[in-house]
Order: sequence, then C-alpha cells, then structure tokens
Amino acid sequence: MPEIDIHICEVGPRDGLQNTKTFMPTEAKKAWISALAASGLPEIEACSFVNPKLIAQFTDAAEVAAHALTLPGVEVSALVPNLKGAERAAAAGIRRIILPISASEAHSHSNVRKSVDEQVAELERIVALRDGQAGAGRLRVVAGISTAFGCTLQGAVPEADVIRLCARTAATGVNGVSIADTVGYANPVQVRRLISAVRAEIGLKLATAHFHNTRGLGLANCLAAIEAGVMSLDSSMAGLGGCPYAPGASGNVITEDLVFMLEAMGLRTGVNIGRLLEARAILEAALPGAEFYGHLSKAGLPKGFRPAEAA
Ligand code: ZN
Repeated sequence: MPEIDIHICEVGPRDGLQNTKTFMPTEAKKAWISALAASGLPEIEACSFVNPKLIAQFTDAAEVAAHALTLPGVEVSALVPNLKGAERAAAAGIRRIILPISASEAHSHSNVRKSVDEQVAELERIVALRDGQAGAGRLRVVAGISTAFGCTLQGAVPEADVIRLCARTAATGVNGVSIADTVGYANPVQVRRLISAVRAEIGLKLATAHFHNTRGLGLANCLAAIEAGVMSLDSSMAGLGGCPYAPGASGNVITEDLVFMLEAMGLRTGVNIGRLLEARAILEAALPGAEFYGHLSKAGLPKGFRPAEAA
C-alpha cells in the first residue's frame, strides 16, 4: 500500500448516481467500481441504502456492495438515511456508514422527512446498533453534517447551529463527523473559519469534508479544508452528483482534478491518474447522455508531470 498524505473517498457511485436520471446497469456499476479501486483510491462510497422506492438507482445496493467488498485494498462505505438502512448495510457486509444530518431544518425535512432532532435520535439508535455488535466486524458510524455552509431551501445556515450540531453528534459516540457543503455555497474563507471552529469543539472527530463544485469553488474549498487540518476529502468522478432533495444542488468536486491538484502539490493520494482516467472512460460509456465535468480529462497532464511520490 502506498503511503498517503490526503485520503480521498470516491463518492460517485453514491452521490453521483443518486442524481442521475438513467439507471446505470448493475454490471456497469460493478465494472466502474472495480476500475476505481484499481486506480488506487483508498475508499469508495459504493451505494446508498435508501428505500429503493424513493431512489430507484439503488435497488441493487446490496449486490453492488457485495461486489465492492471483494476488491482488495479499498475500504467500502455506504450512505444510510436511517436505522433500517444501517441494518441493511450491515447485513450486506458494509462496515463504514454515513448518516446525513442536516444543519438546516428545511433540508432535513426535505431530505429525510424528519426534523434535525429526530435525525439525531436516529443517529443514537444507529450508534446503539453498533455497540451491540461483536468487536471485529463492528460498524463505524459517521455523522454527515449536510448543508453546513448554506442551504437552497433555508438560505444562510448560522455557523453556531453547525458547531452545536457537530458537538451534539460527536457526543453520541460516533466514529467520525463529516462536514458537507451539499449545495455548493461555501467559499474558502468560510471553510477555514468553520472547520477551525468545529475542530476547536470536537477535535479530530471532524474527519472528513465534502464539497460540491456548483459555483466552481470546489478545489479552492478542498485546499482551505486541508489548510485547516482536514486530511480526508470526498469527491466524485467526472463531478457527478447532487442532492435530489436540495433544489439547485449539482456536481461534487471532480476526483480527477482533485487528485491532480494534490499530486502536483506534492501530496500523495495513492491514486494512479492514468488508471483513474480509464475508470472515467467506463463511466462515460455506461451513462450516455449524462453531463460529465472535468478539466484534467480534457487537457491531459502537463508535459513532464510527476506525481507526488516521484517528486
Ligand atoms: Zn454531496
């Protein structure tokens, strides 16, 4: 295993596909996830254990998860909207789950049909499920704080609300907290300020940041998060993604461009850029008509480019 400076979790198979109109055939999902793993990505969020009646893309979640779990050297995680989803994920063999909890009350009702308080109670039930499991195969539970930098429904989200919610979720005994700009409202100064404030409150429990590139600030926000001490970032191949229950939300930070930026800066990701672009070709072939983003895939690597390890 290569040494890694910044951990990237590829969320395309979950965040990306949840907002895609066409169903990606199960075999194509498996081939894509295999190619993502072969590129060296250390973690893949493979699916969502949401009710398939709500998002048909994830009807095959258990089968996709089972396939991803056979791939060597990659951690497989999944999004769960509630306790039932957590139980389904655990039954499918998933060990790392993310429960979204909105900092915006309006987004919480739209996204999970619960108030923020009710979703924190759901988190407590999932932590209790984990605590009832045997040691080695235990779930690791992450609270994903959605709309932490603003909300298309509510508008501004007070930073005090976000900090308080991070502290409340950390106090439940979760394994980690992730902070998300679900709708692409964040700017780098805000990212540095809020992450520093949350870090002061819950320390290293704040493990991951998740940005959307809706207004083109995705990479800048990733860099600001790194400068504030975050060492794990989510991103999505070809910038697919968006929350179907947050109007106006669009693509995630583009994995290919993020890997390029970090490697060019001398920060090791463990990802082979050539193989990453091969995985992108599989994705593009499997989703004809979808909108794909990315600069590196168009421009190619600079002449003489050397990744971080060779620097
Ligand atoms: Zn997202």
